Amino acid sequence: MRLKLLAALLMLTAATTSINYPKTITTRVEPEPCVVGHTSAPIGFWTWPANSHVNIYLREPDFSAEYVSAVELAIGNWDAAAVENGSNVHFSFRGLTRETTSADGDLTIIRGDVYNSKIKHLAVLQAHSLKSNQLIDYAVVIVDSRVKNPEVLTNIVVHELGHSLGLLDCNSCSRKGTAMSLLKSGNESNGIEGPTVCDKMAVLSAYRDLALRVRAASTVLTDLR
Ligand SMILES: [Zn+2]
Repeated sequence: MRLKLLAALLMLTAATTSINYPKTITTRVEPEPCVVGHTSAPIGFWTWPANSHVNIYLREPDFSAEYVSAVELAIGNWDAAAVENGSNVHFSFRGLTRETTSADGDLTIIRGDVYNSKIKHLAVLQAHSLKSNQLIDYAVVIVDSRVKNPEVLTNIVVHELGHSLGLLDCNSCSRKGTAMSLLKSGNESNGIEGPTVCDKMAVLSAYRDLALRVRAASTVLTDLR
């Protein structure tokens, strides 16, 4: 009799337990964190001074007016991130020019032959630091002559401006997670039109680092990758 009662109690407990037990299991997908040098770009390239204003020109006849909106898109997206990325570096597009300008805070985008089968880079950033302190005074972006697709030009300008805010190329990053991965070809856009969340965080690290120390260096640095 007592055994039956005990069995009944156990069944009741089991029934109660099964009623209260959560029937749905939620799988939480955590976003991959941005880790500088791993899932987001490494830092160490030279930078525009914090709080500066960069004027960007497109040299003609290397580029015609049909490329203006492609360049403006990239510039506008980095400019919009100026406060969030901790640099407060603002970018403005100033139009077409016949000169390669070397005035303070100027960046000229020109064409040249930079591609080779070993390095496979479609553009380079040539940074000039007149006080040899790794702070950029003026810069030139050289885009390979084979780049004809305006969407790819947007990707390239986003990438090179990323360099000018301290970011290096990222081979370990996912292609959609950064502007700092390599493009596959001069015809195929990677869809990146501005800095990603991880790019902005990496720039934040670069400018925190910059606030702590000034590094001695030569006067010209070319991004060779
Ligand atoms: Zn690069």
